[in-house]
Amino acid sequence: MPEIKVLPEDVVSKIAAGEVIERPASVLKELLENSLDAGASKIEIEIKKAGRGLIRVHDDGRGMDREDLRLSLGRHATSKLDVFEDIYSLATFGFRGEALYSIFAVSRLRITSFRAGADSGYAIEGEGGRVIAELPAPPVKGTTIEAADLFFNTPARAKFMKSDASERAQLIKTVEEAALANLGVSFRLVIDGAEILSLPTLPGGLWENLKSRASSIFGKSTYGGMARVEGKTTGMAVYGLASRPDALCATRVNQHFFVNRRPVASALLRQAFYRGYGHMLSGRHPACAIFVELDPGSFDANIHPQKRDVKFSGENEIFKTVSNTIYEELLSKQTAAVNMTAPAGEVKFGSPDVPAYREAAAPPPAVAETGGLFDQPAAAAPQPAVPADWRGHELKYLGQLAKSYLLFECEAGLLVVDQHAAQERVLFEKYLDEFSKGSIKVQPLLVPLETELSRSQMETVLKWRDWLKTAGFEIDQRGPAVALLRAAPALFYFTQPAFSEFLGYLSEVLGEPEKAAEDMKRNIIATMACKKSIKAHDFVKPQEAQRLMEDLKKAGDGYHCPHGRPTLFHLSGSDIARRFQRSAAL
Ligand code: ADP
Ligand code: MG
Repeated sequence: MPEIKVLPEDVVSKIAAGEVIERPASVLKELLENSLDAGASKIEIEIKKAGRGLIRVHDDGRGMDREDLRLSLGRHATSKLDVFEDIYSLATFGFRGEALYSIFAVSRLRITSFRAGADSGYAIEGEGGRVIAELPAPPVKGTTIEAADLFFNTPARAKFMKSDASERAQLIKTVEEAALANLGVSFRLVIDGAEILSLPTLPGGLWENLKSRASSIFGKSTYGGMARVEGKTTGMAVYGLASRPDALCATRVNQHFFVNRRPVASALLRQAFYRGYGHMLSGRHPACAIFVELDPGSFDANIHPQKRDVKFSGENEIFKTVSNTIYEELLSKQTAAVNMTAPAGEVKFGSPDVPAYREAAAPPPAVAETGGLFDQPAAAAPQPAVPADWRGHELKYLGQLAKSYLLFECEAGLLVVDQHAAQERVLFEKYLDEFSKGSIKVQPLLVPLETELSRSQMETVLKWRDWLKTAGFEIDQRGPAVALLRAAPALFYFTQPAFSEFLGYLSEVLGEPEKAAEDMKRNIIATMACKKSIKAHDFVKPQEAQRLMEDLKKAGDGYHCPHGRPTLFHLSGSDIARRFQRSAAL
């Protein structure tokens, strides 16, 4: 008996499928690429059950006749060979004729297509790589591909899929990228019967279309903080939209890079982009849709269809052009504007030193589970100089300074309290206390607050909706992109803009609900809610000031706000005396 066995064809095809398609979004990506390759001007996508139920892509491209339709499902079937001079560039561009073959191997597939001039349209149906039927179809321009019951015959792979919400978010992101990369093609995305994206092509040029898409995709508030950037060097152009340094986001979910209009994940481009902001980021992240146009011979798209990395031949040039463009367009211009109005020396942005890419700093740290929430870790914050027993002292309220600080007499010295930080600390502890006792007092809002989110932010919020309810926040959805706050913990008070920031921030920092530890979730929400529900520059009445201090005395950590900044400091009687060059305290 020979030991070597030849694997049966269906096993081989499933293995091949595993390389090309890992999850519903990879199926969608391949189908969209085929539609774009077919010259479509309009693409409609319908998704059911996060892509496991159905992925349907309809285009108005050139279509296939009966013969091509049959061939398209075979392994290494491609009509794209004649476009390329040799096999090398064929492989480089990922045209391997494997996508339909692989998708067919792990789904129930139907392809319907009509090519102009043919006697009729045709449809082909099958499952798990076996053709079941071929039928005539109406002569509707273009191609419709329906992949149903994905991974129905590979249960092991089906198990690897993430939650519906994260698969959906990935599907949405795939369409967003295709739509940003192909501004001349209209896209529509429907998920479980609801229209999620509608991106028609508009009259007008590239910028009109880019702006209108960016506004739908990023959501109005993120888009509102972005500016147009453009730069050029020999053989290379960079353009697009990027966040102004004063309008950064909590995470990098809203970053899209394209090389010659193909979405890429390039560490070099990202680092160059960040470098352009110099020191203005402090842990936050700009949103962007950045397009780099290069001579096609000067980069190499990775041949693995899933990896989107690219290799550039002129790395230093590219790095410099991207970072200089960002710096010139966003910081240099802004500095000029600031210097005209602000006193000299107030605001200075250093020009980014642009070292060669190889010497560039490590990529900015990925956002940790807790995000940039804790601006400074509380553990690292120094203990402020305060008499150890200030809690035991009678504190006499003296008044308020700059509507921001509360002044108390304490042990013949002065206790200065940051009212904002102190309120945050007190609220934070009260809320966590109510939370752990399961007794959060919830206050319904007479008029719900609303905010617009990007589609993927909305997906995250929906994933967290049930948990947020246990945290006292009742969130609803209206339409694909508007979130409503119907009720909130009575401890908090949100204005509309504060709620927008609160939810926008949460949707960016929260990952998978089931992955985060309960304590961490509670801390994140408490920190953010406190931060957003308190305004600095508020007049505080004397009784309120006294009550706040009583509460602060009872707090577990009265010395720091939840972000780790100090809540108070003390000037002792002798400190004050020294300033008046007196030898002793009064
Ligand atoms: P590749 O795109 O690498 O050529 P695929 O397996 O994705 O391989 O597709 C095989 C072939 O089927 C394509 O080369 C093309 O001729 C045809 N095809 C697939 N999708 C479409 C479509 N939406 N419209 C027209 N032709 C298509
Ligand atoms: Mg293809």
